[in-house]
Amino acid sequence: MAEERRDQRDAREASQEVGEPWGRSARPEEAEAWESLVATARRTVAEGLVVGTSGNVSVRVGETVLVTPSGVPYDRLSAEDVTGVDLDGRRVLGALTPTSELPMHLAIYRATDAGAVVHTHAVHATAVSTLVPELPLIHYMAAAMGGTVRVAPYATYGTEELAENMLRALTERTACLLRNHGTIAYGSTLDQAYDRTAQLEWMCRVWLTASSVPGLAPTLLSEGQVAEVGERLRGYGQQG
Ligand SMILES: [Zn+2]
Repeated sequence: MAEERRDQRDAREASQEVGEPWGRSARPEEAEAWESLVATARRTVAEGLVVGTSGNVSVRVGETVLVTPSGVPYDRLSAEDVTGVDLDGRRVLGALTPTSELPMHLAIYRATDAGAVVHTHAVHATAVSTLVPELPLIHYMAAAMGGTVRVAPYATYGTEELAENMLRALTERTACLLRNHGTIAYGSTLDQAYDRTAQLEWMCRVWLTASSVPGLAPTLLSEGQVAEVGERLRGYGQQG
């Protein structure tokens, strides 16, 4: 019976027409966070981390998660399009359908103290996700993600299975790769989540570039060397 009721509720939610307001209106701090979210989403496209609407961005404001809606180009998003769900994924703000990758975003907010999450299909990172089980320690900036960046096993996009695989790969890390799919990173702010994403894509590009020289293999750092940088980053709050 419980299953049936949930199915009916899902069907009702799925039938909500675009344009029909859902729930309450945005509070001032949510409106402000939405503006920053849209700016970050546009940045992922402008800086080549995302093609079209293939990524998604979210930010947490209290118990509400603001998230990019499914299938709307970021340059068309306005203040009226604010889309928000609670930590169980129930829509509380806006009339648009949240990103299909919502399960990954919510899994991170439930399990960590994240304030923002950025997911992309960045080209070098996605290429690396098909080659290795973890990104070799090519550069000390791996420390900014907590150490060796793992690749989460493949599962269909939008599924709880993918969210679970991702969460395991994120153990003691703030970013991971998703096999044959892309990247996901979180931080306390949108800027931090974005920066980790850009750094991860850059490290993947460095590894691919160094690995592609015939007859030569890149030198790699040890876990200890990267851990030492991690201590420095924590100690000084800046990178060298
Ligand atoms: Zn994706």
